[in-house]
Amino acid sequence: MPRETAQARAARLEKIIAGFEKTYPEAHCELTHADPLQLLVATILSAQCTDKRVNVVTKELFKKYRTAADYADAPLAELEQAVKTTGFFRNKAKNIKACCRTLIERHAGEVPHTMDELHALAGVGRKTANVVLGNAFGINVGVVVDTHVARLSQRLGLTQQKTPERIELELMALVPQKQWTMFSHWLIWHGRRRCAARKPDCGGCEIKRLCPRLGVKQEPTRGG
Ligand code: SF4
Repeated sequence: MPRETAQARAARLEKIIAGFEKTYPEAHCELTHADPLQLLVATILSAQCTDKRVNVVTKELFKKYRTAADYADAPLAELEQAVKTTGFFRNKAKNIKACCRTLIERHAGEVPHTMDELHALAGVGRKTANVVLGNAFGINVGVVVDTHVARLSQRLGLTQQKTPERIELELMALVPQKQWTMFSHWLIWHGRRRCAARKPDCGGCEIKRLCPRLGVKQEPTRGG
């Protein structure tokens, strides 16, 4: 792609955002939750696991464990069993218990509202904290960068960075802050529905005229 000026990129991004707003007006976090604690637990469980699987697991989990104390006091083996099918279950169960213990000891059993306090909890990295702040509290402190957000922002030519931390910084500089949470939902929704890792549907893509398709292999021609 020919080198794009910052001004041209900002104008293109504005059109991409308008395209996403039109295509996915209902975009939202696809982890089922009814309160901040449920979202925190679901997000911890979502590491290396699909939202769909997490939602199957939390359907039963949230009936049994309703407060931070319920998780903190649960026998570890019981919690491990309850989250087993999300993968890495030993670590996840240990982190959820430790995280909820800290919620009780330092935050009266409530989920805190700041990046620093969230980040200090067991099993909570910047991405999880961003998910909780943006979706449970409506606070835009950063941009959630998961595998879809990373892939799409590269294909769309919004960043050449490779690590989630650096991609996040670039997106924060480009995207208006009030849209940080929605922007990652749009990229995640588009990644799941149109711009798959292996076989993106560029022909049917709603924003194809705005995308340089960086790193996307061309479909082989007939016989080639
Ligand atoms: S044109 Fe292709 S690569 Fe670009 S966003 Fe659409 S599906 Fe993804």
